[in-house]
Amino acid sequence: MSYRVFARKYRPQNLEQLVGQENLVKSLRNAFDSKSIPHAILLHGIRGVGKTTTARIIAKSLNCLGANGKLTQPQVIPCDVCLSCQGILTDRHMDVIEIDAASHTGVDDMRELTESSRYKAIQGRYKIFIIDEVHMLSKSAFNALLKTLEEPPPHVKFIFATTEIKKIPDTILSRCMRFDLATMQPIRIIQHLQDILAQENITAEADALAIIARAADGSMRDALSLLNQAIMLSGSSVVSAAITQTMLGLSNRDELFSIFELLFHGNIDQAIKTLHTIYENGGDALLIAQDLIHILYWVICLKNTPSLVNDAAWSEADREKGKKLANLLPTNVLLQSWDLMQKSYDDIKNSFQPAQALDIALMRLAFVKDILVNPSSSSSGNRNTQISSSSSTMASMPVTFEAMADLLLYAKEGLLHGHILHDVHLVSYTTGHLVCGLGIRAPKNFSKLLKDACERITKQLWKIEIVQDNSNPTIAQAKAIEKETLKQQALDHPLIKEILHVFPDAKVTIN
Ligand SMILES: [Zn+2]
Repeated sequence: MSYRVFARKYRPQNLEQLVGQENLVKSLRNAFDSKSIPHAILLHGIRGVGKTTTARIIAKSLNCLGANGKLTQPQVIPCDVCLSCQGILTDRHMDVIEIDAASHTGVDDMRELTESSRYKAIQGRYKIFIIDEVHMLSKSAFNALLKTLEEPPPHVKFIFATTEIKKIPDTILSRCMRFDLATMQPIRIIQHLQDILAQENITAEADALAIIARAADGSMRDALSLLNQAIMLSGSSVVSAAITQTMLGLSNRDELFSIFELLFHGNIDQAIKTLHTIYENGGDALLIAQDLIHILYWVICLKNTPSLVNDAAWSEADREKGKKLANLLPTNVLLQSWDLMQKSYDDIKNSFQPAQALDIALMRLAFVKDILVNPSSSSSGNRNTQISSSSSTMASMPVTFEAMADLLLYAKEGLLHGHILHDVHLVSYTTGHLVCGLGIRAPKNFSKLLKDACERITKQLWKIEIVQDNSNPTIAQAKAIEKETLKQQALDHPLIKEILHVFPDAKVTIN
């Protein structure tokens, strides 16, 4: 099987073939129709979105003379046969000059350009300067360019391309017709790949294309080059999701979903085993972590902003598994998990043992779920899972009032902890929101002190409301009452009564 590289073979040749750039095409068509063609056009967009290709297409449109060589106006659909079109197609047009600003940043380069712009076009209608990476120009170079832009000779057109619009001076921007080239949505990439495959008579699994579209991250050029590679690897067989995954060093999404399911069901052992199988098959810890974070993000969207979820890069099977996870876990657990994985990502990247760092990150994840979903396991006795303020990576929100008191204790906020025990009469507590009455020994600014401390420890917003209601006992009073009740129960016990009868000086104490 022999074929030219798709990116070249299927490079769009006119404005109408530009996939996904309908706005640009519409505006240029209007400009051509109304004969108000701008002197400078600025194309802005991410790497690989097709800025240079678009610039060349615009140049061809501007200069096309028609098959008979006599047209006097630019053409939205250039003829591709006139001298001018042929010149651009073969990169030999004398009036279309491409400059890479990255290697021509200086003022002398711009002066040279300005100088040559004085001479009329030879081959086409306009002399066209395509300046790529224009944000790289020095300040003085921009100033030299500005002089020409302020009074452009009628036969000169500029097409600028940039990835970093913020580095371009306003004086230049204000003289350009600006187009933001749309980042390619996965669905558009997939459609385009399908078109090409149909023309090439090659079959590919839908999941394979979804994987490529996702990896291309908005760049059609990257998508085409990945498709080329996948076809190469597949030989004469169908381009499969498995081959594409191997090619990209990705792990099987099924396995990643099952890792989450196992973890969140508390089966840490099996989850880590699954992870290790992925390592053994050549999985890369950092890439796996990226995928896991991506899955969490997607599940959070699935649960909270379904409108964001219409994402062609996910298969039907993925959706089913995603929904299962979304139903299994409350949003706060998902958010904390994402947060924790995001923070762990840097640890994994910097670790001399990335695989071990990922293991630990996942084990932590299981605990996050435990603390947030099962408050009893964190507040009563199981203090190993309680989180101290010295841990920079996580300080989960306590879900009970007692857990909140514990949190202050572990964060070494002893004074506040004391007031919580002795002076706070609980009215209600929901995660991050305390309503209470206050005893007279509490400081006047107690609510502020408490709020500040809690926010410092948990890195989240808190609400502390003080009300005139001391009807409930403080934690200390509750303990005292409990002790007294136990003592009374003991005194009421027949055996104790008998002992006290025999030894009237004996004392009953509760420890
Ligand atoms: Zn032409």
